[in-house]
Amino acid sequence: MAASVLSTKSGVIYGEDVRKLFKYCQEKQFAIPAINVTSSSTVVASLEAARDAKSPIILQVSQGGAAYFAGKGVDNKNQEASIAGSIAAAHYIRAVAPAYGVPVVLHTDHCAKKLLPWLDGMLDADEKWFKDNKEPLFSSHMIDLSEESVDYNLETTKKYLQRAQPMGQWLEMEIGITGGEEDGVNNEDVDNNSLYTQPEDIHNIFKTLSAVSPYFSIAAGFGNVHGVYKPGNVKLHPELLSKHQKYVVEQEKIKDDDKPVFLVFHGGSGSSKQEYLDAISYGVVKVNLDTDLQYAYTEGIRDYMISKKDYLSTQVGNPDGADKPNKKYVTITTT
Ligand SMILES: [Zn+2]
Repeated sequence: MAASVLSTKSGVIYGEDVRKLFKYCQEKQFAIPAINVTSSSTVVASLEAARDAKSPIILQVSQGGAAYFAGKGVDNKNQEASIAGSIAAAHYIRAVAPAYGVPVVLHTDHCAKKLLPWLDGMLDADEKWFKDNKEPLFSSHMIDLSEESVDYNLETTKKYLQRAQPMGQWLEMEIGITGGEEDGVNNEDVDNNSLYTQPEDIHNIFKTLSAVSPYFSIAAGFGNVHGVYKPGNVKLHPELLSKHQKYVVEQEKIKDDDKPVFLVFHGGSGSSKQEYLDAISYGVVKVNLDTDLQYAYTEGIRDYMISKKDYLSTQVGNPDGADKPNKKYVTITTT
């Protein structure tokens, strides 16, 4: 089991443990699911699934999910709700994760240029936590400047990695655009060519970021799309990822590792098993599959509400009798 290679076996891990975990994934040919959580109940559902599968898990909050964690009624000007919500999620996850007996990577999802104040606020919290605990509050963050120029993307990502490095914190970056729609960001009309990343770009990122820290991963576009759509719109080309690895190995003259790049697969929802297996065989260590799991979570609630409709319509009175109370049926949805 993956935990055997880690110094922390249960609960939130960071630093060298994250690198060891991802390397173990590449060696054993699997990837870790990254689940977008928005509430204590989605955290618990994910942790329970990880425990039952005896699998490490990545729990992440998006900027919108973080605001939801704080409460949609809170004003999010200057990203205040997203900062407060992601910090609340981090503390909640840190508190409950050890009870589930699996390693947890505590991560934050896409952060575009206009959302950088959110990332800055979380890094302030990381540094504060680091002072007392010698580790960052979050295991890792994602920065996503894929819609900006490649130069700006790399330069700015490097600056953030420089800030994360003293804490041993991981940074995921994106190059090439993930299509589709997620968390209010709509890339459904993006030209197909910008959905595929080139090996030269990956090498340039690898070289520049490796000089700062080994703790980074790359979400490289290979036709990925957020969401589940009718088949045939965009074609996944996981074999491109193999070209990236080969190019970096050649250019950097790496002898002992044929997968030096830690790759991330965004928009995993709706993909076939073979597409996952191919991507994993080329060094993908993290798979984001938000839409499928949002649906799975909603299905449980939907089925309960529909099957108990006659017990949830009034506080008293149901098919078992006009004076029967419905408290126990309502309580299940609120506790
Ligand atoms: Zn994504």
